[in-house]
Amino acid sequence: MSVPPLTPPASGRGIKVEAGASLAAFIWFRTGGPAETLVRPDTATDLAAYLRDLDPSTPVLPVGVGSNLIVRDGGVPGVVVRLPKAMAKVSVQDGRVRAGAGAMGITVASAARDAGIAGLEFLRGIPGTVGGAVRMNAGAYGRDVSDILIEATVVTREGSVETWPAARFGYVYRHSDLPAGAVVVEAVFSGTPGEPSVIGAEMDRIAAEREASQPLRSRTGGSTFKNPEGHKAWALIDAAGCRGLTRGDAQVSEKHCNFLLNLGSASSAEIEALGEEVRDKVKAHSGVALEWEIQRVGISLPSRMREGAGGGPALSTSDAAGDGGRPPLGPLPHAGGEA
Ligand SMILES: Cc1cc2nc3c(=O)[nH]c(=O)nc-3n(C[C@H](O)[C@H](O)[C@H](O)COP(=O)(O)OP(=O)(O)OC[C@H]3O[C@@H](n4cnc5c(N)ncnc54)[C@H](O)[C@@H]3O)c2cc1C
Repeated sequence: MSVPPLTPPASGRGIKVEAGASLAAFIWFRTGGPAETLVRPDTATDLAAYLRDLDPSTPVLPVGVGSNLIVRDGGVPGVVVRLPKAMAKVSVQDGRVRAGAGAMGITVASAARDAGIAGLEFLRGIPGTVGGAVRMNAGAYGRDVSDILIEATVVTREGSVETWPAARFGYVYRHSDLPAGAVVVEAVFSGTPGEPSVIGAEMDRIAAEREASQPLRSRTGGSTFKNPEGHKAWALIDAAGCRGLTRGDAQVSEKHCNFLLNLGSASSAEIEALGEEVRDKVKAHSGVALEWEIQRVGISLPSRMREGAGGGPALSTSDAAGDGGRPPLGPLPHAGGEA
């Protein structure tokens, strides 16, 4: 019987491994604890080899830019995978767009426009990576990834590299059947022939509409709740009197009340508790149970620990950045992948 490794495989050729790395440094909300282990592979093959050697009981979480994530304050146990810039390349061939999963949606939409491929314009308004979009079936303006995806390359948790046709993702509204720990590393999209100037005009319209209606320059996690059948989540939240509601430095956006904001020094616990308060108020007001669209990951930290009243975080690695030591608010990420 083989003995499982006590520690994850270390950095080596083709892989960077960092213990206790900050996620708040790049996650859109700029909150939350560290990754127990942050892994940055150079290539899909390097990632596959790493995952093959990893103790099968170690959880693996791929992340993009965290524009749909609440990372809890106690951090994320196991391995977090972040794709590098080298896995964010976009090219066009035979009317199809091939994109590394670290590429941002806007880069894919722009490449499609330049090549005269219509139908991918909606990606202009979704500030996440291709990997997150394929996983979440991201969409807007009546279209989503299931309408444009031909196939994607996936590195499974077991460490094999597989090509999945779109049908295998089992897409429904903002959900795929991609198993936990599987990492999308590349995707191929198709559209229909179009005039670049017309496609560009539609992208500009989307950008302007977003600017007018969404808190784009704030630290947020996108739409907090899924639109329930026959309802708009924002309208239910508004009707329940939650517009502008605050908890600590967390706030329900005044501009679009299905967005939660970190006004500066909110903790993930405050953001999540505010979301639960909104759910309670909406249920009491309209009887509708809102379902989280934002993915919540990691370990909750009891508030006395967040407030520095003693005790350590629930992770074996020390939370050096900690909740109190969150990095200062820097500029929002605009490019996918990492240097
Ligand atoms: C201002 C704003 C507007 C938004 N508007 C929209 C919108 O109109 N429509 C919409 O659908 N979303 C919207 N979002 C939410 C978000 O942008 C999308 O869900 C996006 O697809 C998330 O991408 P990400 O790369 O940041 O993923 P993350 O937030 O990092 O992760 C989201 C999920 O995807 C998984 N994931 C990430 N990368 C990979 C990968 N390579 N392989 C496998 N799984 C992966 C994560 O494990 C997690 O489960 C908005 C967000 C913001 C901040």
